[in-house]
Amino acid sequence: MSTEASRTEPKRINTPATNGDRLWNDLVTTARFGGTDKGGVTRLTLTEEDRQVRDWFVGECRALGCSVEVDGIGNIFATYPGEDMALPTIAVGSHLDTQPQGGRFDGILGVLAGVEILRTLKETSTRLRHPLTVVNWTNEEGSRFSPAMLGSGVFAGALSLDAAHALSDREGVPVGAALDAIGYRGSAAVEPTALAAYVELHIEQGPLLEASATEIGVVTGIQGLRWFDVVITGTEAHAGSTPMAQRDDALVAAAEIVLAVRDIARENTPGVGTVGFVEVGPNSRNVVPGSVRLQIDMRHPSEAGLDRMETALQDAVRKAGARAGLMRVWSKAPVVFDPSIVHAVRASAEALGYSATDAVSGAGHDAAHIATITPTAMIFVPSKEGLSHNEAEYTAPEECARGAEVLFQTILELDRR
Ligand SMILES: [Zn+2]
Repeated sequence: MSTEASRTEPKRINTPATNGDRLWNDLVTTARFGGTDKGGVTRLTLTEEDRQVRDWFVGECRALGCSVEVDGIGNIFATYPGEDMALPTIAVGSHLDTQPQGGRFDGILGVLAGVEILRTLKETSTRLRHPLTVVNWTNEEGSRFSPAMLGSGVFAGALSLDAAHALSDREGVPVGAALDAIGYRGSAAVEPTALAAYVELHIEQGPLLEASATEIGVVTGIQGLRWFDVVITGTEAHAGSTPMAQRDDALVAAAEIVLAVRDIARENTPGVGTVGFVEVGPNSRNVVPGSVRLQIDMRHPSEAGLDRMETALQDAVRKAGARAGLMRVWSKAPVVFDPSIVHAVRASAEALGYSATDAVSGAGHDAAHIATITPTAMIFVPSKEGLSHNEAEYTAPEECARGAEVLFQTILELDRR
């Protein structure tokens, strides 16, 4: 008997498996709430369509044995009990709201993969040590109420609940009234300290995984950005009668800065740099330009990389002439995810036999806020042609299924710690 047992091929993963068909069915079901003719979804936050998908989510989670809490900004926390309810909860999730004419996967996959994991736990009578919470964050998209990532921002303390309630949409409807209108202004006081870890599964929304035929992106962080304005002052002069040697051409100086931004980014891989706005004065064919304003966007995954890029930009502006001024107008620090959670994601993808690569998110996510208060990481799955915020957004059933499997495996790994 014992020799027979030892000869048995060990199961690669000794755990119950999530069901990709069931997950896909949930994606199809929820896409009906705000579904568009072209196969996309228009489900702006705190609208009737949002209420429908929220009610569906709450109903499914309750039926699976979860307790459901809603906080003051409408974030929904569905918690499946663990063996030791004194332990902090392991949280997964994302957002169910979409852009106008948005897709069926952006955010939604991360919540529904959580629901599929709940189904799997229930079906196999599996109890984790920790409680498991599936979260739907309010207004990730920011298309009806600005700023984006509002619910996770309030939860993480980036802005106050009162300030969030006072924000209005274009029709003048405040967030507070919109929450009341759909019945999702809750009163639960969910403390950030209640989380042991947060893991968010999301579509990549970019082309890199597909291009490299990689199944899983192990997201190590979210790149930071800095915005700069450059004002260059030259001397307006007649285009016909001013000799070339005597010109003080602001646009020529600006052109050197545009090229420098490109070169600085290339020298600081994986940094990116863009001059997306140019204003020329007086902008007339036969006048040597006397003034130019440039708007520059630079991004990099590390603060040190951003510092190097900014220093190089200062040099480039200095070289372009004494009458050029550089101003940093906005910045957002890079988010570096918790190495031990990132490691758990990487190990889980490997254990399941999926190809995986480290990735840095180019877009913002709720995980950026949650990372400031709890150990956090993200998992990416491919986006067809890198399309997102688009009705044609697509991630294949097997790709969604792999993401859910890696998410589940990561939770199991964290639960053992
Ligand atoms: Zn999203």
